Amino acid sequence: MHAGARARVGVDVGGTKVLAVVVDEGGVVRRRLQTALPAGERTPAVLEETLTRAVRDVVDRVALSSLEGVGLSLAGLVDTQADRVRYCTHLPWRDDPVRARLAARWGTRVVVENDATCAAVAEHRLGAAQGLDSFVLVTLGTGIGGALVVDGEVWRGAGGMAGEFGHAPVVPAHLGGVACTCGLRGCWEMYCSGHALRRWCAEHAPERADLRDGPEITAAAVAGDVVALRAFEEVGTWLGRGLAALVAGYDPALLVVGGGVSAAGDLLLDPARTELERATYAARHRRLPPLVQAECGPEAGAVGAALLL
Ligand SMILES: [Zn+2]
Repeated sequence: MHAGARARVGVDVGGTKVLAVVVDEGGVVRRRLQTALPAGERTPAVLEETLTRAVRDVVDRVALSSLEGVGLSLAGLVDTQADRVRYCTHLPWRDDPVRARLAARWGTRVVVENDATCAAVAEHRLGAAQGLDSFVLVTLGTGIGGALVVDGEVWRGAGGMAGEFGHAPVVPAHLGGVACTCGLRGCWEMYCSGHALRRWCAEHAPERADLRDGPEITAAAVAGDVVALRAFEEVGTWLGRGLAALVAGYDPALLVVGGGVSAAGDLLLDPARTELERATYAARHRRLPPLVQAECGPEAGAVGAALLL
């Protein structure tokens, strides 16, 4: 990009890496750059230095103040009303006015949003949910991210933190609910995520050293491996069960599933559709929303963040 051009930059801040993209007005990615987050102590200062470098590098070192702005997408609770990042599982920000600090540092407009919210914005504008007034998006990675769109707008909730469907309690502690990373027990994402795929394989086929992570289990399922297929059936069934609760509550026009685990496509979605039909309230007397795979891929968070500018 030549000096002086006004670029929108989207940055997805993951647990281990940072993806920065430059997008044009229509959301088309013109440039991308991925960097690892430094290992070792993760302080806000170290993290923000890495982000500053990533943004500068992806726009070819033009002055940051000449940007249209920078959108940050991150896996955490972003309180948009109070303008603070409340909590991130893998990042050091706690109850921190990150957006204002980075805007002052970079001399440009900055928006900060939850990554699933950003993905929903991308799917709404460019992907599976174009033209729809209401839909639910869940992203299945290590855990679950979620977003709800109502009347064409992301529903942020009273504190700006809506959509954390992954921590809805689905199995109570006294019935053996699995301990979640959030400190609660029996959260939906303990049964429906990359983590759940791995746990299922470890419990049911401990001898299978080739089924240790999500991409391995997905590849094995695609190749017809019986254990991997059963893991997807289990996780897909939990997906359908959780989505049935969301359909009962929100009656959306569409259900979109993104994130790394969704790469398995119908191996995940078919058992989910079966369970959705079985478990949704009054399923025979209503039009069930289609359940589809997200279309914007692994860049959805970064692109959606840039589109929020
Ligand atoms: Zn939880």
